[in-house]
Amino acid sequence: MSRHADRVARLRAILRKQQLDALIVTSLTHLQYLLGFTGSHGIGIIGRRTAAFITDSRYQAQGARQVRGARRFITQRPLLEAIAEHRCLSRVTTVGFESHHITFQQYRVLRRTFPRVTFIPTTGVVEQLLYVKDPVELTALRAAMRITDQVFEEIAGLIRPGMREKDVAAEITYRHRLHGADGDAFEPIVASGERGSLPHARAGDRVLRHGDLVTLDLGCTVKGYHSDLTRTVALGRTTRKMREIYGVVREAQAAAIDAAHGGMLARELDAVARNVIAGAGFGDAFSHSLGHGLGLNIHERPRVSALSKDTLVPGCVVTVEPGIYLPGWGGVRIEDDILLTATGCTVLTAAPRDLLVL
Ligand code: ZN
Ligand code: ZN
Repeated sequence: MSRHADRVARLRAILRKQQLDALIVTSLTHLQYLLGFTGSHGIGIIGRRTAAFITDSRYQAQGARQVRGARRFITQRPLLEAIAEHRCLSRVTTVGFESHHITFQQYRVLRRTFPRVTFIPTTGVVEQLLYVKDPVELTALRAAMRITDQVFEEIAGLIRPGMREKDVAAEITYRHRLHGADGDAFEPIVASGERGSLPHARAGDRVLRHGDLVTLDLGCTVKGYHSDLTRTVALGRTTRKMREIYGVVREAQAAAIDAAHGGMLARELDAVARNVIAGAGFGDAFSHSLGHGLGLNIHERPRVSALSKDTLVPGCVVTVEPGIYLPGWGGVRIEDDILLTATGCTVLTAAPRDLLVL
């Protein structure tokens, strides 16, 4: 059975369990996962026994090449209207749709076009399949992470006082592409000096200065799979406070990586890092969750937070990214990507974790 056929078979098992006759797949990420389609416009209808894929004429050739195991249709009309035209939902009564990936207008089209069908909003159906990565997915993830490690090494060699944050971000984007990535996984974060206290600062016009800490958060995609790496570096010199705070974040991350293993609750892993930071007196300054799942999406299940109900099953890939943010002073974050195994974890990103003074 092909990779995609196997995924569709696993989806059908979920549909049976949830008593759905079919699922309308409107997330492009999920279409890629289930049917292999990487274009920007298409929908899938996965029934208990049949599967259909609809796109427009721009993607006729690409769809024919990528999508096997589903009837393919080309339409000039809105995709959901074409479902009726091609009878993709005949003889069904209960159909799920992805409520996070549909507009209100599309929902109205469905209701109007199929007055006899009961439409059930679903969340997390395909998402549960994305949880555990197969070997092909791991190969793409590792390739993306290798490129980002390489780009970080190059950025460490060129970053210097006088550059703007934006200049550094441009180098990250350029170098990701140069080394074979499809593009950035997200807009690179370059937060220097006191701007380091903003966990999600966009790279701005601030000019880097001697004595700054600079937080770099970068990632790329390869075949749709994401890398995500953060390092905080010092320019020229460090203060005792910088070394102290960096040391706490480093210790929190190391403790979490040591403790991580398949089968544990995600919130237990969050607590390991959070306890180290709280124990050092910075509990309030670690204002976000420890990490997130990583794959075809930059943020996916499992969530690694204090409130998460997710389990870190073997085969899932998550980030471990504790941070300390002090308004008016700056911040430190260290982020790596790990693969959970039955007995521990494998760290997939390899950039050096000790404080680099450049
Ligand atoms: Zn990141
Ligand atoms: Zn992240």
